[in-house]
Amino acid sequence: MATVEIRGLKKAYNKLAVLHGIDVDIADGEFVVLVGPSGCGKSTLLRMIAGLEDITGGELRIGGRVVNDLPPRERDLAMVFQNYALYPHLTVRANMAFSLKLQRMGGGAIDARVEEIAKTLGLQHLLDRYPRQLSGGQRQRVAMGRAIVRAPQLFLFDEPLSNLDAKLRVQVRSEIKALHQRHRTTTIYVTHDQVEAMTMGDKVVVMRDGLIEQMGDPLTLYDRPATRFVAGFIGSPA
Ligand code: ADP
Ligand code: MG
Repeated sequence: MATVEIRGLKKAYNKLAVLHGIDVDIADGEFVVLVGPSGCGKSTLLRMIAGLEDITGGELRIGGRVVNDLPPRERDLAMVFQNYALYPHLTVRANMAFSLKLQRMGGGAIDARVEEIAKTLGLQHLLDRYPRQLSGGQRQRVAMGRAIVRAPQLFLFDEPLSNLDAKLRVQVRSEIKALHQRHRTTTIYVTHDQVEAMTMGDKVVVMRDGLIEQMGDPLTLYDRPATRFVAGFIGSPA
């Protein structure tokens, strides 16, 4: 069960506090969006959940287990960044198979799994190409494929659409939602774009200056913003 419990989470870089105590409960299978202006601490929070940043204070549980001191590879999660670094010297197939090989899955099973996921992402005709032979949108889809093949219990996305043009952004956004509808993997999705947040989140967490300003389902945030900041950011009627 991939519940995520974030309790009083704090982060300081040297002496500079950037997260001041974050509390969020995420249910198994939920799609939660963290949204807020640039610099409010979204990536820092996500990287702490991924195990890429030390936790300064508070407690983090994934699937009921305290993971504060657990290395990333033992957290059973996959993260997709905006600059989706693929291995340039490996084909799409090898990029997607990489983590399965590390898990010592057998060759036949790896091929079957990679082909299944490639099909769901519309990548099956691109499996033998190299990253430089792909468009930005196709590369982004390979990055997602690489995350999905392992069937982790938790997906983390950090502004995965920001390098795509407007039209592709809308398309990949609905692909991410469709994948979530199919697999129901617990997902934490970071964006600074309120439209993206409101259209994608089951639950939206609005952050400001290292604190949570308000969280709730999109309609509640829109109809009953708790603060003027939320109203302004979400674009609620005055
Ligand atoms: P967001 O993703 O919401 O734009 P970040 O989590 O990247 O925000 O950054 C939050 C704050 O922490 C910012 O003020 C940023 O400058 C600071 N920060 C982020 N990473 C580091 C770091 N490695 N060292 C020092 N300060 C950092
Ligand atoms: Mg960020």
